[in-house]
Amino acid sequence: KPNGSGGLGFKGSQIPHIKFTKLFINGEFVDAVRGRTFETIDPRTGEVIAMIAEGDKEDVDLAVKAAREAFDHGRWPRMSGYERSRILMKFADLIDENIEELAALDTVDAGKLFSWGKTVDIPHGAALLRYYAGAADKIHGEVLKMSGEYQGITLLEPIGVVGAIIPWNFPTNILFMKLAPALAAGCTIIIKPAEQTPLSALFYANLAKQAGIPDGVVNVITGYGPTAGAAICSHMDIDSVSFTGSTEVGRLVMQAAAASNLKTVSLELGGKSPIIIFNDADVDKAAELALLGVVHNKGEICVASSRVFVQEGIYEELEKKLVEKAKAWTVGDPFDPTTNHGPQVDKKQFEKILSYIEHGKVEGATLLTGGKPVGTKGYYIQPTIFADVKDDMTIARDEIFGPVMALMKFKTVEEAIQRANSTRYGLAAGIVTKDLNIANTVSRSIRAGIIWINCYFAFDSDCPYGGYKGSGFGRDLGLDALHKYLQVKSVVTPIYNSPW
Ligand code: NAD
Repeated sequence: KPNGSGGLGFKGSQIPHIKFTKLFINGEFVDAVRGRTFETIDPRTGEVIAMIAEGDKEDVDLAVKAAREAFDHGRWPRMSGYERSRILMKFADLIDENIEELAALDTVDAGKLFSWGKTVDIPHGAALLRYYAGAADKIHGEVLKMSGEYQGITLLEPIGVVGAIIPWNFPTNILFMKLAPALAAGCTIIIKPAEQTPLSALFYANLAKQAGIPDGVVNVITGYGPTAGAAICSHMDIDSVSFTGSTEVGRLVMQAAAASNLKTVSLELGGKSPIIIFNDADVDKAAELALLGVVHNKGEICVASSRVFVQEGIYEELEKKLVEKAKAWTVGDPFDPTTNHGPQVDKKQFEKILSYIEHGKVEGATLLTGGKPVGTKGYYIQPTIFADVKDDMTIARDEIFGPVMALMKFKTVEEAIQRANSTRYGLAAGIVTKDLNIANTVSRSIRAGIIWINCYFAFDSDCPYGGYKGSGFGRDLGLDALHKYLQVKSVVTPIYNSPW
């Protein structure tokens, strides 16, 4: 865990000055057409941080008009990749100059660790811009040697106006997983941050303008899902929607796309990821990985290792270690550098997690540690471990999105594979073993988009990830993500009298 709140010294109940609260359309901060606002809440206290403009369909229409104009007639898609790349690099530098303030915004809005934001989340936003900036001038098609007297070329063109819908658990990283490749491809974009965490997205809009991104290319509509979000999904003039959020809403996104203009859709959805620990594992290291896998970001992480399968030979020892480590995990103010784990994002999420914990008890799982709120103010929950969990219990099936582990015992490799796969999700999985053959067999057998062997949460800009099954489709990160924002056009010409 990175140390120190350092620098600006954000500590205790301090809230940074909030500079941007309005919608960002066509290069300007503007009020919502209906003049409405909504509260954004500090989950450490439940108090209001600021009132934010509440965008709705009319505002989405204005943003799409600006983005369409910028795409159809503006400089951005026609600029050379090299020029776009330079602007994206400048954008990244501006993020570097504002890291502390941005980390503080995500901390007060989402309850995320300030130290983590400062050293991991925010720098990764800048890193994503630089990664895709490096690709912006290397986007090209192929020459095709067609049969007969024809030659084809493929052109890779920006897909057009993109809608990006972002969840609250990683307000910076997920925003840049979409914004950076879309901009590198030459697209224009309307971003809808989650209603729980609108602050940093508005700050990034201002940095985009300062970096020299032309008006209308980046637009941010803050507001609620069923209004602003739904208007994006059903808009007739948006070409593609990139969505990250719950499986339930993912379904609605696809339906709206189908019922409107058949825009392309990519869905990064929920998960119920397994980590499988075999008898030959280093017990201490395995316990650390399994615990971190489910409590990192207070369990509000789509790839959380919420189902922990332990082979019977080391089960007792591992269970003991897990409980020791969970008890030592500190829950408290996310600005405090000694804290491991801040508050859940809001009251709704806090209550949802506590209700799952009740389900676990009622359905007969054994609560080994945790299970209770921490303190009397804010939305803090103890790291929680249940043993004796059966595959069909609610806590083993549903995505809880909180620091709650379902611990289970298994005997054979085949049993582990079958049970790990018996979920409607398929986002991630972890394997802990020294046996290369087991690692290879299991990693090929698990139906999930990313497999971590003897590690967990190892992400980087060039490592694609996304779902199988109910976890969605399409990939974020890596060059695969760039292709979501590109169209392939074939252009065919006859070749007369060619000897070939
Ligand atoms: P959510 O689906 O409720 O909301 C996500 C976003 O969709 C928000 O911006 C919300 O306003 C918007 N939205 C809500 N209803 C909408 C509608 N009808 N039309 C269009 N947009 C709508 O999810 P959440 O509670 O914000 O986030 C938690 C979920 O996100 C979890 O299920 C988690 O697993 C998932 N998630 C997935 C990934 C991934 O990469 N696979 C990453 C992070 C979070």
